[in-house]
Amino acid sequence: MSDPMNVLAPEHRRLRIGDAWRDAAGGATFVVEDPATGKTIAEVADADVVDGLAALDAASEAMAEWAATPPRKRSELLTATYRALTERSEEVARLITLEMGKPLAEARGEAAYGAEFFRWFAEEAVRVEGRYNTAPAGGYRILTVPKPVGPCVFVTPWNFPLAMGARKIAPALAAGCTTITKPAAQTPLTMLFLARIMEEVGVPPGVVNVVTTKRAGEVVSALLADRRTRKLSFTGSTEVGRVLLRQAADNVLRTSMELGGNAALIVCADADLDVALDGAMVAKMRNIGESCIAANRIYVEEPVREEFTARFAERMGALSVGHGLDDGVDVGALIDEASVTKIDELVADAVNRGARVLVGGERPDGPGHFYPPTVLVDVPEDARMLEAEIFGPVAPIISFTSDDEVMAKANDTEHGLVGYVFTRDLQRALRFTEGLETGMVGINRGLISDPSAPFGGVKQSGIGKEGSHEGILEYLDVTYAAIDLP
Ligand code: NAP
Repeated sequence: MSDPMNVLAPEHRRLRIGDAWRDAAGGATFVVEDPATGKTIAEVADADVVDGLAALDAASEAMAEWAATPPRKRSELLTATYRALTERSEEVARLITLEMGKPLAEARGEAAYGAEFFRWFAEEAVRVEGRYNTAPAGGYRILTVPKPVGPCVFVTPWNFPLAMGARKIAPALAAGCTTITKPAAQTPLTMLFLARIMEEVGVPPGVVNVVTTKRAGEVVSALLADRRTRKLSFTGSTEVGRVLLRQAADNVLRTSMELGGNAALIVCADADLDVALDGAMVAKMRNIGESCIAANRIYVEEPVREEFTARFAERMGALSVGHGLDDGVDVGALIDEASVTKIDELVADAVNRGARVLVGGERPDGPGHFYPPTVLVDVPEDARMLEAEIFGPVAPIISFTSDDEVMAKANDTEHGLVGYVFTRDLQRALRFTEGLETGMVGINRGLISDPSAPFGGVKQSGIGKEGSHEGILEYLDVTYAAIDLP
């Protein structure tokens, strides 16, 4: 197979600003590594504040014309992006795997998922509507006019290098906004490839700018401090989200925050255990567990605990670990050594407090950042992994005996992104859906991500929604006109 890097020519491993691909003003670069080998795969431009502001110049200059572009035209450009991404999905997938480490099958899934945001928002672009009605007291009319919010700054994480940017860029463009995306420093290549595709299909210069940098703090602060920026959408950790919310407050920016999670997955005794096992495997192991919606805590009702645990452990133990580009690999490399160390420490902490390891639990030697699929039982309530985002292939199993007990435990966290419930009892499923303090619930399903559904958390998991009709509303302001008409 050819080198996945061939799809991104050296001239496109630079900053995408306006109509140009250019080096950082200071000439700096940084390297991108393959997490499965630790080897350098590319060098990209390392933007500083000057470059960030140049991207904002471009986004601001392009704003009026893009906002005035007919919705149908904007829609067609989004459709063209969807088609190009779909035609080139294998190239996109291989690039994702190379820089991020996930197995190729998962990267193909992300390529399709990311592309779908462009199709969905191409369809939404032509359905932005205001309304006209008589004021309740009579005497005048109320007219609402939706308008694009303006130039947007996007900051995205490394775990879904395409999809996390796509689900911001597509609705923003649909609404008539221009964009600057700062991808994660560990995975900048896929976003550059997307910008190149969008240039090729004819998205006008300045509408999609991409700024790669190792100096996220400086560059993003400068962008948020500039009054031309009108919106921040961030996906990443709650910790960084808090910092950016504070910065955004100075300019009273509109914000969408997609932050960390600590999902509880609840298996009730009446569940179809085959369905629950499939769901738990997906919810835990999709993206190697490096997902904000990964099942972080698996609660199993006592009567089925033994059977579920044995079958789940068997399936986890059968997964093969290796380079994501190799055939038959289920579990690729984690993003970096710090991640492996963090996970190893969480496992050691749980074991020190009395947990037992059924599968995995041993950090391997050798190159690359690997950790084996791991299942722990008898995990005590004070184990750190029940509170921290594990972000890896480790599954703690805890038993429960009543719905009230498990609901209280599931909600005992600052996070509120998603919960999963497996039961054949409809009333029970609905009680959990109403009682779980989360923005999303998977009922007898471990996979909930869908561009046509509103994705987002409550509590400290975030503010706002991505995808669905709600997704485009995040990029629209509403001007209301009072029209005198006795
Ligand atoms: P992160 O450390 O918060 O980084 C996310 C992005 O923020 C990266 O582009 C990073 O740049 C940038 N950044 C870091 N510090 C910054 C600062 N001071 N100012 C401005 N930007 C800054 O998160 P991550 O490790 O990449 O991603 C994992 C986290 O994302 C997890 O907590 C996960 O739950 C969350 N996540 C949430 C969702 C959701 O939809 N709710 C989806 C996916 C992931 P650098 O790369 O240069 O550090």
